[in-house]
Formats: sequence, structure tokens, C-alpha cells
Amino acid sequence: MELYQKTAANLSLMLQKKEVSSVEVVQSFLDRIELVEPHVKAFITHTPLIALETASAVDKKRLLGEDLHPLAGVPIAIKDNLCTAGLRTTCASRILENFIPPYDATVVEAIKRAGMPLLGKTNMDEFAMGSSTENSAFFSTANPWNLDKVPGGSSGGSAAAVSTGMAPLALGSDTGGSIRQPASFCGLIGLRPTYGRVSRYGLIAFASSLDQIGPLSLTAHDSALLMDVVAGYDPLDSTSLPEAVPDYAAGLEGEIKKLRVGVIKQNLADGFNPEVKAAVLKLVALLGANGAEIDEISLPLADYGLGAYYLIAPSEASSNLGRYDGVRYGYNAGGDNIEVMFSRTRGEGFGPEVKRRIIIGTYALSAGYYDAYYLQAMKVRTLIRRDYEAAFKKFDLLVGATTPTPAFNIGEKADDPLQMYLSDICNINDALAGVPSLSVPSGIDSCGLPLGMQMTAPPSREGLLLKIAGFLEQKRDPFPLRPRVKLSEGGEL
Ligand code: GLN
Repeated sequence: MELYQKTAANLSLMLQKKEVSSVEVVQSFLDRIELVEPHVKAFITHTPLIALETASAVDKKRLLGEDLHPLAGVPIAIKDNLCTAGLRTTCASRILENFIPPYDATVVEAIKRAGMPLLGKTNMDEFAMGSSTENSAFFSTANPWNLDKVPGGSSGGSAAAVSTGMAPLALGSDTGGSIRQPASFCGLIGLRPTYGRVSRYGLIAFASSLDQIGPLSLTAHDSALLMDVVAGYDPLDSTSLPEAVPDYAAGLEGEIKKLRVGVIKQNLADGFNPEVKAAVLKLVALLGANGAEIDEISLPLADYGLGAYYLIAPSEASSNLGRYDGVRYGYNAGGDNIEVMFSRTRGEGFGPEVKRRIIIGTYALSAGYYDAYYLQAMKVRTLIRRDYEAAFKKFDLLVGATTPTPAFNIGEKADDPLQMYLSDICNINDALAGVPSLSVPSGIDSCGLPLGMQMTAPPSREGLLLKIAGFLEQKRDPFPLRPRVKLSEGGEL
């Protein structure tokens, strides 16, 4: 087995035992990138020199016997909405095409401190608005399982990078599904932590009350290891949770106590793809066979979540994106007076989906409409949160499909915003409620595409999600976690 095919946990062990150097590990991923990236296009910016530099520094420290983090020397790819000091951070937008942040996001500082070599910044939907990575201003990313399909979004580049072995681990961000949906489309673990669990400082804001950073990986163990690096209180993020963080990797060990599992009716609805549903029910049966009590649950307000989200998220976006005026940073289109300059800069700098959201959000927040739209949506959000509070009095865990269908074709929904919005219908409510939510691979469909099950836990219980995902990985019927990338001209990589 090549180094790039190994899990982060395996690489970590090999590095600790000095069976391999970090430079060798990084080189294996760089070679893989050279081979696969032209077909998949997961990265906006490649950083091979930074990766090799970090790797060789870690190797030297290891030789000197220094105490190193378990993930020291294990490389990572990160979504291009995470600020990296001195390194271009575009958010996949023309308006930030040449933006070089003067500081690191807290999570970036954390991965640097851990000694994780950075392989590059991954493609995404512009400002994380989308579900397919087709809204990137630069190019689309392909789904490694079938290059005609989307990898999901908005963290599609991060998912595609891990799924092809171009990186063992990646960070994404999830506002309303952007980690879990691409994880499901690419056959990965994707965790949206509890709101506030991972610092948002230096994450370019889309909808601040919803945005969360989280891991994408091949296995639950790998996500746990990465959570151990990035989770924790940060005084630089006023919404950061001031709670102690458990040791997620250590938490994977031991028995799972008797679970009460609620199958969310709305997340296995009639119109869903039957293979998606069957795969979820198979995993649920496994939990049942392990002693879990299974029951169905209906979240009464679930159907209103999508509507509320598509008012709240655009409203916050319209406010957050007000800063891109060409004056302080980013693209400036010029013009004879300030009004012309503002409107040209924003007109040329933002893509159509971002403009759509700014317009919807500005409308929803404007005098006379605020009460009818934004305020109503916030009330619905509160009621949804209460639905979850009630559900978690009866259940330890809620489950359902991560997505109604497997990955769809590139171009299939690109011109139909509503269809695109519906593709993460199962992911929105957890985000509105602020609870942790994880997608675990549930199988492969008859077309060879991966499927996912979403599991949701009470606030701060992401450790439970990782533990159960780890259990399912061991008990379910085996299937490949990474595809052979089949090229249209024939052959596979
Ligand atoms: N697809 C959803 C949207 O476009 C969620 C995106 C995200 O989580 N960043 O808003």
C-alpha cells in the first residue's frame, strides 16, 4: 500500500515509530496530486513548498527526540475560506482572488502548532454558498467516484481531495450542510461540530450564527484526531464555547452504552432515493442488533427549516459581505466616483448566487419586511431548536439520510437554485439548532456512488457521533472507502 492510501491514524503511527519520515509522506501525497488533480481539480492553491518545509522541520524535531503532537508530520488540505497569513485566501470569489490575509485563522494556527504540513487550499462554492462546488468563480470540482458528478458542496474540494488520496485529512466549513453533504457524496466521514466548538476566528464569514468548521476524513478515528487539534475555547471568537473539550480520539475506545435511537421521519421521506433509504435502515438495524432501542421520531417543524434557513443565512450574508467594497481589501474595479466604484466592484466581483443571496438578505432585513421575513424565520428557528430539545429528552441519537439522493450530475441543478437548495434539506435543521451532526458512509449504490447516513447528537456530544461512526465502520459490510478514479479517456488512477 502506498503512503497516500493510508489513513491519518496509520500515518501518525508510522511516523511516531520512525518507519517513515514526514517528507516521504508529504512527497507521496504530492505525487498523487500531480497525477489526479488535473482530472478532479480539488485545489485552488497548491502549497507543496510549505508542506515540505513543515515536514522537514517536523522530521528534524523527531530525530532530536522532541515531544510531538500525534498528527505532527501528517499533511492536511484546508478549505479556501480559512485565512492563512501570507497565503492567498480566495473564498472561491473574484472579489478575493488576490487577497492575502495578514493573519492565520485560529484553526490554521492550531494545525501549524501541531506540525501538520499544509498541502493546499481547496475549492468551494463562492463564499460557501452552494451544494455542488459549481459556484466557485474559478472552476468546478469533479466527484472522484464518477467524474461527471458533483462532489457536493460547498466543501467539495476538501471532500474530493481526501476521497482521492490527495490529502489524508481536510478541514471544511458547514453553515447548512457543507461538510456533511460532500462527505456523503464522496464516501467520507464529515463532522459538523456543535456551534461554538471550533473557533470561527479567521473563517471568512458567510452566516455567522450558523458557520462551523469541521473535519472530513476516511475514518472516524481520523476525524477524532483532527478534532483534538482544532476544537476548544478561543477568546478571539465571542461565540466560542467556554467548555472543556474531551479527548475525542481516546473517547472512541470502550463499549457503547445502550442507546435510544430516533429515526427522523422527515429525513427518510417518501420521495427519497430507495437505495439511500435502504442503506440507512441497514445501519440502523446494526445499531439495533447491538442493543440500541430504535423508534421513529417526527420533528414537527422540520419542513419549515429550509425556508427559515434561506432567509436567515442570506440576511447574515448580506450584512457580512457588505465589507467587500473595494476600499479595504480585495478586488477594486475603479470608477470616477465612489458609487460607481462600489457598484462596479461588487457587480464584477461577486458571482450570481452570491448576488442572489445579498439581494434576498437585504430585502428580508429592510424596514417594513424585517418583521414579516427575518423575525418570522428567527421564531421558526427557535421552535426547531425546541423540537430538538424535546427529541433529545427521549433519544440519545437521531439518524436519517444525509442527502435525499446520491451525487447528481454536474450541471443538473446549476440553473435551478431551488433544486440545489433542496439537496441539503436533511442538513439544515441540525445547523439551525446548533447541534453536532455527522455523515458516515452507509454503502455504495448500484451505480457505484457512495451513500451516507446522518447522525445528530445533543450539544457538545460530537464525541458520541464519532464513537458510533467508528463502531459502524467496523460492523457494516465492507466497501471501498476510496474509488479508483475512472478517466473518460479510459484507464483509472
Ligand atoms: N448549501 C447550503 C447553502 O448554500 C449550505 C452551504 C454551507 O453549509 N456553507 O447555503
